[in-house]
Amino acid sequence: MGGRVVVVGSFNVDHVWSAASLPLPGQTLSGAYRSGPGGKGFNQAIAAVRAGAETAFVCALGDDDGARLARTLAQADGLHLHALTAAAPTGTAGIFVDAEGRNSIVIGPGANAALGADCVSDASVWNEVAVTVTQLETPAEAALAAFAQARAHAALTLLNPAPANARVPQALWPLTDLATPNETEFAAQLAALGVEVDAAAVATLDDDTLHALCRRLLPHGTVVVTLGAAGVFVSHADPRRYADEAGAYRLAAAPVSAVDTTGAGDAFNGALAASLARVPARPLREHALFAVRYAGLSTERAGAAAAMPRADDVVARFG
Ligand code: ADP
Repeated sequence: MGGRVVVVGSFNVDHVWSAASLPLPGQTLSGAYRSGPGGKGFNQAIAAVRAGAETAFVCALGDDDGARLARTLAQADGLHLHALTAAAPTGTAGIFVDAEGRNSIVIGPGANAALGADCVSDASVWNEVAVTVTQLETPAEAALAAFAQARAHAALTLLNPAPANARVPQALWPLTDLATPNETEFAAQLAALGVEVDAAAVATLDDDTLHALCRRLLPHGTVVVTLGAAGVFVSHADPRRYADEAGAYRLAAAPVSAVDTTGAGDAFNGALAASLARVPARPLREHALFAVRYAGLSTERAGAAAAMPRADDVVARFG
């Protein structure tokens, strides 16, 4: 039963240095180092496959150790990797973290910048696709081509409009069924439409106001705003697609002991896509609840992709 998830997006090797403070210009510090896989696309694809959906990940890699890491990890999780090999090195992120958890990040997109419209032309990617997911860490052409393919295969399109400083191309909104901004991304995308909202105040807005803002952002589709430890706000406008009535409501975050919220949004997106693909006839509220629980559990472990739980973990913890 159900179909596959296709995620189109970024893969990075994250290099993380933790020190007492963030380095100032000209300053040299000493700190702890770790590295691991990252990139919103990869994190979401690993979440989708661990949440129980057969999943394909379309990305661009270099011809280097980073690419070998991506292939090894994908294989270990049973993720179908469709990677084009670019002339540039595999994407990287250099991350400095201080003692208070604040960070400064430089991303080297590298191969990710080579992901173009032709990346989704391999027909085998689209076999039995039910849900297609993309973000904005890779070029807009790839996102547009992915959603056009999804439409041609009658698959649901899930846009995670992240990072917040990336502009969603106008042509992508009409191809989007479901958008999942966090508070910062929600405010940023509304600002692009000329609507000013304070990102820090999003969670405190009343439901009617939030619902109206969601309708403004995606008039024909459903918006789920993720609110960190405050859970999610759902503005459901697509009753033909889900088994429940249109409407707006909140779901509280799962009761967990969060130690690292890095990648919580990616966990939410991957789990939501997996649930929608596996059991499409369910009410949207149940899909969102599963994703809230899955994302909550992901915060109990350090790391992004490495911290993604399995569907069984969610059942064992929350029933
Ligand atoms: P992002 O990582 O994109 O900023 P959020 O911080 O909104 O996204 O987190 C996504 C989801 O993860 C939230 O909607 C919530 O369900 C869950 N989550 C995040 N932080 C916590 C937390 N401290 N406790 C419980 N759940 C959390």
